[in-house]
Amino acid sequence: MKEILYLDHCAATPILDTVRLKFNKVANEIYANPSSTHLLGNCAQGYLDESRNNIANLLDIKPQEIIFTSGATESNNLAISGIVNAARRKNNNIHIITSQIEHPSVYRCYKSLEEKGIDVSYIPVDREGIIDIELLSTVIKPTTVLVSIMHVNNETGVVQPIDEIARLVKKKSKAYLHVDGVQAIGKVDVNLSAIDLYTISGHKIGAYRGTGLLVVKEYVELEPLLYGGTQEYDYRPGTENVAGIVAFAEALKQCIDCFEEETKKLVKIQQQLFKRIGNVPGIAINTPTISKAAPHIFNFSIVGYPSSIILERLSSKGIMVSSQSACSAKKNTQSRVLREITKDDNIASSSIRMSYNSTLESTEVEYFINCIEEITYKLIQFSLMS
Ligand code: PMP
Repeated sequence: MKEILYLDHCAATPILDTVRLKFNKVANEIYANPSSTHLLGNCAQGYLDESRNNIANLLDIKPQEIIFTSGATESNNLAISGIVNAARRKNNNIHIITSQIEHPSVYRCYKSLEEKGIDVSYIPVDREGIIDIELLSTVIKPTTVLVSIMHVNNETGVVQPIDEIARLVKKKSKAYLHVDGVQAIGKVDVNLSAIDLYTISGHKIGAYRGTGLLVVKEYVELEPLLYGGTQEYDYRPGTENVAGIVAFAEALKQCIDCFEEETKKLVKIQQQLFKRIGNVPGIAINTPTISKAAPHIFNFSIVGYPSSIILERLSSKGIMVSSQSACSAKKNTQSRVLREITKDDNIASSSIRMSYNSTLESTEVEYFINCIEEITYKLIQFSLMS
């Protein structure tokens, strides 16, 4: 058994070996600025172009439809504010839509635009976390310029019917569809043909922090968030993180090449979790059935016991899990996402998110479950005595 059982892959993944090798080579040897016109600068530009072309082939898009960013938070903000700002140049009366269970980098961006007077609709979800498509259909208006819906939820793993949403948005409006695909890439089928903008983050797939991208289809009208140089087709100025991008392209290649093999293993792990954790008394499972969830996330609540207590006890046993999005975790509040899905404060305050890769062994799953049983038993005994 490893000393640390790391079950927090949705927050950050370890760097893959081949990714580290590529990063080190480029970071050490190709240190020039890709905008410089000398030999080493051209070489850096070559690495950048090659990475962009490789990613474009993997995602079946054009190279010029990729904007490299510092990560998904930036990509999501660029997509949302970029579309809103471009649309408002033509018409101030615009409407934008999102769901109630988005990651804070989407949700809070919408909230801030709402505070600035933009008309915003938040679509609710059902008990499994799937957005209400019928309601979405009625909420789309002639003024709607953007619909942003995440592909896979980072807390429960629920997968949204993105193809159906895309068809609906196209049928009913001229709005763009932006999809936060951070937890989807390499875990569920991703087809970008009907999606206008798509967000991916490097450090969730075995690359380095500080790397990410936004797919922006050629016809999308977008304003940059930052002004400066002409890098990234004028959408994202600043010297490119060449080594980070090369590493990101390698990680993306591995995650797409290994998709089928990897997801088969992940599904087996998730099946074991459903079967075993489902039998522990006092536990509510928050991840929907396997056919509606990505296979690398399993979320449950030890109802009535705050997540922070369980996380601390697991951590002291060497088990690293989270309760919600890493971007909200330190606030120690209940999960907004689980509150919206379950409408139950107790469940939302006691959620535990396990997220793993395919190297998780069944003996480690059993160890985890034994620890959960022991912690739950002790907590119940303690509350009976007090
Ligand atoms: N969206 C989702 C669904 C996420 O899980 C995360 C990471 N918690 C983000 C966006 C933000 O990603 P980054 O850390 O790359 O900014």
